[in-house]
Amino acid sequence: MMLTEKRKKMFLGGRWVEKDEVIHVYDPQDNAIITTVPKASEADILAAIEAAEEGVKIAGNMPVHERISIINKAADYVEEHRAIFAETIAREGSKTITEARGEVVRCINTLRLSAEEARRIIGETISFDQMPGHENRVGYYYRFPIGIIAAITPFNDPLNLVAHKVGPAIASGNAIIVKPASLTPLSGLLLAEAFEAAGLPEKVLSVVTGSGREIGDILVTHPSIRMVSFTGGMETGEKIAKKAGLKKLSMELGSNSPAIVLQDANIDDAVSSCVAGAFGAVGQNCIGVQRIFIETSQFNEFVRKFVKETKKYKTGNKKDETTDMGPLISKREAIRVEEWVNEALEENAILLTGGKRDDAFYTPTVLMNVAADARIATEEIFGPVVLLFEVENLTEAIEKANQVNYGLQAGIFTKDINLAFQAIQQLEVGGIMVNDSSDYRIDSMPFGGVKGSGLGREGVIYTIQEMTEPKVVHFNLG
Ligand code: NAP
Repeated sequence: MMLTEKRKKMFLGGRWVEKDEVIHVYDPQDNAIITTVPKASEADILAAIEAAEEGVKIAGNMPVHERISIINKAADYVEEHRAIFAETIAREGSKTITEARGEVVRCINTLRLSAEEARRIIGETISFDQMPGHENRVGYYYRFPIGIIAAITPFNDPLNLVAHKVGPAIASGNAIIVKPASLTPLSGLLLAEAFEAAGLPEKVLSVVTGSGREIGDILVTHPSIRMVSFTGGMETGEKIAKKAGLKKLSMELGSNSPAIVLQDANIDDAVSSCVAGAFGAVGQNCIGVQRIFIETSQFNEFVRKFVKETKKYKTGNKKDETTDMGPLISKREAIRVEEWVNEALEENAILLTGGKRDDAFYTPTVLMNVAADARIATEEIFGPVVLLFEVENLTEAIEKANQVNYGLQAGIFTKDINLAFQAIQQLEVGGIMVNDSSDYRIDSMPFGGVKGSGLGREGVIYTIQEMTEPKVVHFNLG
């Protein structure tokens, strides 16, 4: 493992580069400085783009069997060094060591899926003779790589969300420049190391560390960049979309996901699924459960059991194997969450448990009686806070669930297939989980949202489709 020596460097077109200007990387648990990474300048981004301009030719000419072999070797590398990958995720971010190990397993799977899907990038024949006068013509389309991809990633899954862009990009013959979140750049750099060790030709991949606000514009507006693949907050996504111009956009943004619990639901299952979905990764999860709508006849029992389960959640040291929940990503974020909760409490919300902050830690918090138009009910809290609402029936639950400018995923708990189908048809989201919370995902399913939750879909083969374009070929046989 070489990262210890390379840690102060970024991966620019296949070379490890150091800079005088640096970004400090902190452990949010105790504010200890872990290390520094270079603070890239605009000139560094231009150098990465220049390298990618050559890299894209190399990547496009790489036979599919070589792409498969390289991605699988990168997955082997992550697997072999999984302990250090997990420690890095747990150290630079919010996740407990147990959650971090889970992310490493998912990253290996994402890479292996990418290798597998590389052989399935297929086209179709086209019946040109469906139009009178077009007889004696044959043809087909195939998918070709889109070109250079700028990938910008958030802090909350610092490894797997980078793998979700790099794996499919390489599988489909593109060059890619990753700009990881400045709070958690180390996991992405480790992934670059895995691809270097796997023999990925230089210039195909860069992982450039630097401030999004300072170097983001040059990266997303440069004419050589053919696609911007962004995962992060809605505000940043909107800014990027306005600036990017005429290029492909993939926008994986946030949400304040709903779960609906109907009167026939298994309450114990609904409670345990929603508690895990609300507080996993300290609630810093784009599909985390934020709003739960419960039918009147179940409301009191659900509230009692939900609060009881929440109180069992153990907050503390991320490295401790028994800890359920670590700190938020920063003290600043914990203060913001505290402010949003206090604002709701001033407007007559009732605090059922939690609501206490200690530095970057915030206790798992359950609120009821929150006004429908409160900031905490309409925006994304991205913290360990969940709101419980009593509703008369499914129709009211769906109407309230849809009353926000987000729509990533939703959960519904019921045994009634007709009611489940009503929710499937009427909820404005990219995915519905029946008898599970919104926080359910495997890395090979289409993943993405509607409304303010984004544009396009990820999920390896779906990402590959976004990262390739169909080219039509037609023969006039005379
Ligand atoms: P963020 O503040 O939007 O930052 C995301 C990335 O954008 C970071 O790398 C950031 O760089 C960069 N950035 C910031 N300003 C930029 C600009 N003007 N131009 C270009 N890049 C810029 O998001 P976050 O706080 O890291 O992550 C949390 C958000 O991500 C939540 O809303 C969550 O729901 C969403 N998310 C969505 C998904 C999904 O798949 N739908 C998955 C995970 C997370 P710096 O770090 O240098 O500022």
